[in-house]
Amino acid sequence: MSPIDLPRLRLGPRDVAAGFLHLIFPTPCEMCRSPLDLGRKSALCGRCWDALERMPKQGCWRCGWPFPDEAAARGVERPLCARCREARDVFEVARAPLRYREGGIARQAILLCKHGGRLGLLRHLAHLLAEEAPAYLAIREWDALIPVPLHWVRRWRRGFNQAELLARAVGRRHGLPMLPRALIRVRPTPPQQGDAEARRRNVRDAFRTRQPEEVTGKRLLLVDDVFTTGATANACATALSHAGAAGLGVLTLARVE
Ligand SMILES: [Zn+2]
Ligand SMILES: [Zn+2]
Repeated sequence: MSPIDLPRLRLGPRDVAAGFLHLIFPTPCEMCRSPLDLGRKSALCGRCWDALERMPKQGCWRCGWPFPDEAAARGVERPLCARCREARDVFEVARAPLRYREGGIARQAILLCKHGGRLGLLRHLAHLLAEEAPAYLAIREWDALIPVPLHWVRRWRRGFNQAELLARAVGRRHGLPMLPRALIRVRPTPPQQGDAEARRRNVRDAFRTRQPEEVTGKRLLLVDDVFTTGATANACATALSHAGAAGLGVLTLARVE
């Protein structure tokens, strides 16, 4: 007679202890501080996660910006927004899944990651970027990912470069190499502020390629947390283009309204 298979009891003492701890000190959601369900892996509760503001998938052919009137874009093969008709961008396309607006939850989450050092939250947002990027651009058309570099002093102070974490998650998910040292920030620039012209001046000649042969002939996707006027992306793209990059695109977590 074969022995009877008893179902294994899966709860160990660690799980019981974790359950008790959760009852007394439930982990709060990083945004709204309401207690998370036991076993929830994300740093945000379901409600905050669903409230992250999304970019529509259709919009300006270059920067993805939504058209106020969809009819205006209809029938045009590559419709451009007002910004892109004026700007002389070095990159071909820029896309972001999230909208970054004053008082918005996506903005709050990104600021918490960057200045509050919430690496757990940043990892979840990186996962979102990796999962959703293909809905916004043809991710496999690119040869490698380049995170927008911080100056070494700022990176050392912050302890991490958020762009590198984002690029790593996208690279892993889609089998693309990340080149974290291809581009360097050669001077410490003050945080970007002001209008497009002030931002362009602030980052002019701030980036250099370290080993041009690493990027020559490649289609490169720059990765960063936020796209505002495109000044930083264009400064990076200019340096990479001088080194012989065959194509340049930009993927950011969020786009400023
Ligand atoms: Zn919440
Ligand atoms: Zn545009």
